[in-house]
Amino acid sequence: MTDTLIPDMAESGATIDGLELRTQLFIGGQFRDAAGGGRFTTENPATGRPLAEVARGGAADVADAVRVARRAADDGRWSRMSPGDRKAVLLRWATLIEANAQELGIIETLDAGKPITDTVGLDMPETAACIRWHAEATDKLYGEVAPAPEGVVATITREPVGVVAAVIPWNYPAQMAAWKLGPALATGNTIVIKPASTTSLSLLRIAELGAEAGIPDGVLNVVTGPGDTVGEALGRHPDVDCLAFTGSTEVGRRFLTWSAESNLKRVLLELGGKSPQLVFPDVTDVAGLAQHVALAIFWNMGENCSAGSRLIVHRSIKERVVDAVQAELANWPVGDPLDPATRIGALINRGHMERVLHYVDVGRREGARVVAGGERILEHTGGYFVPPTIFDNVRNDMTIAREEIFGPVLSVIEFDTEAEAVALANDTPYGLAASLYTDDLNIAHRVARELKAGVVGVNAYAEGDMTTPFGGYKLSGFGGHDKSLHAHDQYTETKTTWIQLRGPG
Ligand code: NDP
Repeated sequence: MTDTLIPDMAESGATIDGLELRTQLFIGGQFRDAAGGGRFTTENPATGRPLAEVARGGAADVADAVRVARRAADDGRWSRMSPGDRKAVLLRWATLIEANAQELGIIETLDAGKPITDTVGLDMPETAACIRWHAEATDKLYGEVAPAPEGVVATITREPVGVVAAVIPWNYPAQMAAWKLGPALATGNTIVIKPASTTSLSLLRIAELGAEAGIPDGVLNVVTGPGDTVGEALGRHPDVDCLAFTGSTEVGRRFLTWSAESNLKRVLLELGGKSPQLVFPDVTDVAGLAQHVALAIFWNMGENCSAGSRLIVHRSIKERVVDAVQAELANWPVGDPLDPATRIGALINRGHMERVLHYVDVGRREGARVVAGGERILEHTGGYFVPPTIFDNVRNDMTIAREEIFGPVLSVIEFDTEAEAVALANDTPYGLAASLYTDDLNIAHRVARELKAGVVGVNAYAEGDMTTPFGGYKLSGFGGHDKSLHAHDQYTETKTTWIQLRGPG
């Protein structure tokens, strides 16, 4: 069943007639209502108006989806499919995602408030590229033969863990799903995935495209619904073998508890961050630097786990850098996410916007100085718009420098010595990403080594690409890494087979 979308897009002038939204659970290759028949409303963050009524899954639906996924795992149609055939199915899926990027991008923009240029031009191509990259690896991974003693053949092989559950956030709904689905499915697992309630729509369509590509029924299941019922039921389920989570540190902790209290399922955590951007005094291209600094904190409205939210800059160059970042804001227009010129769309919902604005108030009260933004704008649209906001005179012990704001808010902090810069950068409970800017190779290598973060960008804001793992230190998570072949490791068990050979005669 599909619901026809009738959003009020009067402000944008855009027409999206005919766009159909999948709003039901996707279990066993079929769309169906939640067992209790409940639904919840998801809204367009750019207008504050209802967008769709989505099935409110519950514990019974999770039980059903896990049962279906277990059956599909055990019957071997996917796990024992030849790697080349599995690859072909996943490649077809990636091609279908690409072919439908326009539709998927519009859905994502309406649902998440993200700029259309990003969703169509970046999120959907990256989603397809992620599936394709893992698909390509499927038939290129070999097992090992151990250096066993004479008369013994010992092999080390990889097997799927079985049933994977994934719980994902709302900031990159399609991409975060792909980061889990790509490696989990490529390695032969079946999966039950729960999108964030605010952004269920793109994943449901992507799952449907998966069925069209030939993913067998029951291998990929989507249960929509609230975290504290669907998410917890997955976390506690005794027949889920692995739980991959991206979201807040607070919820990540709960999954560890539920694992301990149930079946010791493997838990993979990709959590939040408070990432530093360090600027050393020798930097010459300050305008180029400002582009990276702005991208690091304002891309995706700052709703980004690896956002570079602390700009730690040498005192001698600070004024020039802050001026350059302010000048760069001209290139970050805020507005209707459906307008291709927009680079900053709406925050995900009213509650989150209020949380971001609360942090801005706290920053002011604690003595930091707002030099850009700082207030809600475009209120007449009904949307949740906060412009790029820059705080100067921030100390690293202030709330805005310690807590993850998850919005377009940059804190500028000064330093005098390299040792002080490193100490400030590492003085955070998080350790997801960091970047540093210098023209001096010695500083670059020295400081990159000292930073306690999973991804360090030098002279760039960077998360790497599909070939490099992504994951954090400390409260930013542990247990595995998204992207690269390291992601395959986390969805597989290692099996040793020790074969004793009999002598001749
Ligand atoms: P949440 O942790 O609140 O939500 C993430 C997911 O967990 C959602 O699907 C949510 O469902 C679910 N959830 C919420 N409460 C519970 C619960 N009690 N039990 C089980 N599941 C639950 O985070 P946000 O969605 O607010 O995302 C922002 C956070 O995610 C930030 O901290 C950010 O840094 C982090 N993040 C990390 C990334 C990384 O790669 N390290 C990437 C992107 C984001 P529902 O929507 O229904 O509440």
